[in-house]
Amino acid sequence: MKPLIIANWKMNPTSLAEAKKMIVKGAVICPPFVYLGLLRGELGAQNCSSEEKGAFTGEISPLTLKDLKVKYVILGHSERRKLFSETDEMINKKVRRALASGLKVVLCVGEIDKKEVLKIQLEKGLEGVSRDEMSKVIIAYEPVWAIGTGKNCSVDETMSSIILIRQILSNLFSRAIADKIPILYGGSVNSSNSGAYIKEAGANGLLVGGASLKPDELSKIIKSSY
Ligand code: PEP
Repeated sequence: MKPLIIANWKMNPTSLAEAKKMIVKGAVICPPFVYLGLLRGELGAQNCSSEEKGAFTGEISPLTLKDLKVKYVILGHSERRKLFSETDEMINKKVRRALASGLKVVLCVGEIDKKEVLKIQLEKGLEGVSRDEMSKVIIAYEPVWAIGTGKNCSVDETMSSIILIRQILSNLFSRAIADKIPILYGGSVNSSNSGAYIKEAGANGLLVGGASLKPDELSKIIKSSY
């Protein structure tokens, strides 16, 4: 599996000129929505609506993203769960709508403290998703305490969480399907720790937040994953 590096720019930068300078080849760039039609390269969105179209002020349809040639959408990020009160049920509706619209879904899961939550997040988040649709799903394992804190998860702990996630997916779908699903690691990734997640912990890629805002650093992260 070719390592998948996803850059989550969150609510940065605040100008198109800056955004254009921050593009790095070899990563899926997830900028703020408004730049999606204006940037080139492999693009992802940071969220989408659970609805197709209609009277939902301020929302963005997955069909609109698809029309802009956006390939991926991040759903269930811990910031959306915490700051925007997104529940597993709401996330599941978005996951299903995004898949039905032809997008690849990057479903974020991760514990605040207890790993039991991973099973719940995966079970509820993927409810009603067909086996065929699972070929368009990517899981990002992001322990909440590691996001934006500088406290990245150890290689050993990441490895055991990835094994646990694959086991849960195997029970939900099948071993063959679970083995094919890319599982990424995210949480305070930088160019010094990135390679180990791919080469030692068994991650199939990385979801990078803060470090993805520095193009040189993101390039080094990409290089370290090969
Ligand atoms: C993220 O936003 O998903 C993330 C992992 O952020 P950071 O790399 O800054 O911890």
